[in-house]
Amino acid sequence: MKRIGVLTSGGDSPGMNAAIRAVVRKAIFHDVEVYGIYSGYAGLISGDIKKLELGSVGDIIHRGGTMLYTARCEEFKTLEGQKKGIEQLKKFGIEGLVVIGGDGSFRGAEKLTEHGYPTVGVPGTIDNDIPGTDFTIGFDTALNTVIEAIDKIRDTATSHERTYVIEVMGRDAGDLALWAGLADGAETIMIPEVNEDMEDIIKRLERGHQRGKKHSIIVVAEGVGSGVEIGKVIQDKTDLETRVTVLGHIQRGGSPTAQDRVLASRLGAKAVEMLLEGQAGKMVGIENNQLVSHEIDEVLARPHELDNAMYKLSKELSI
Ligand code: ADP
Repeated sequence: MKRIGVLTSGGDSPGMNAAIRAVVRKAIFHDVEVYGIYSGYAGLISGDIKKLELGSVGDIIHRGGTMLYTARCEEFKTLEGQKKGIEQLKKFGIEGLVVIGGDGSFRGAEKLTEHGYPTVGVPGTIDNDIPGTDFTIGFDTALNTVIEAIDKIRDTATSHERTYVIEVMGRDAGDLALWAGLADGAETIMIPEVNEDMEDIIKRLERGHQRGKKHSIIVVAEGVGSGVEIGKVIQDKTDLETRVTVLGHIQRGGSPTAQDRVLASRLGAKAVEMLLEGQAGKMVGIENNQLVSHEIDEVLARPHELDNAMYKLSKELSI
């Protein structure tokens, strides 16, 4: 392989730039040319493709977002769109592709591999919802953003003796809420993987209040539902003064943490190694601090698993 491509797709996450940098530098280290495909699969279809040099990825390791831009592209879900993409890759002489993104992006990568085009996936999403890797690029940064925000909200919660419902991202996964809730000593963590009765949550809040608790923090994963609605139910059914904060897109931005930069560097470089070894249709990941790879179709078929021991611990520590 003498020329490869790299693109970022789906939701952005902090550390994607560090992964792009690793792909470019590792490839050039092995005398392989790298082309950047801009705006995900949309740029692949339209041919928004440019050669990247060592200097193209200078001064980006510490920046959030993605220098290649990202997009959602409905056309790429069609066979016609995928064929157009492959035509562009052939036109530019690109022999293999690294796709940095979440599970949706991997579905696109899987299609390219099915059509005989070698593709390797790098998991980049703040949601940490991809099976086959303990962590995805961006999760650690988002987690730190969330706990910084909750620490601040906690000050006001204490001063005003209020109950705060804080809605965090994560799509259908509860990882961000669970880790943030545990890291911040939240009284209650609501995640989509566990179906908890609202009545029980209210009883627990009231018990805490009677015991003299001045405030409560409830972390709600967006996959459970609207934090605003949950806040209304608590306000209506208790005497607790309740406020809601939806953290929103601040969770997706910012300078990546050291953990995310190192993870992205390791995963990006590994993806290039795999392409050069002739491997395709795989995703790189990290398990027990070791770099691993899995077939993308297996990853997509597996359900996301919650760390049940961690959830149990969060319950035990928030009594
Ligand atoms: P993420 O990668 O963050 O999960 P999305 O689910 O939005 O983000 O997917 C990103 C893009 O991947 C989509 O806009 C589309 O271009 C492509 N994609 C998603 N699903 C498929 C599919 N089944 N076949 C081909 N491409 C897909």
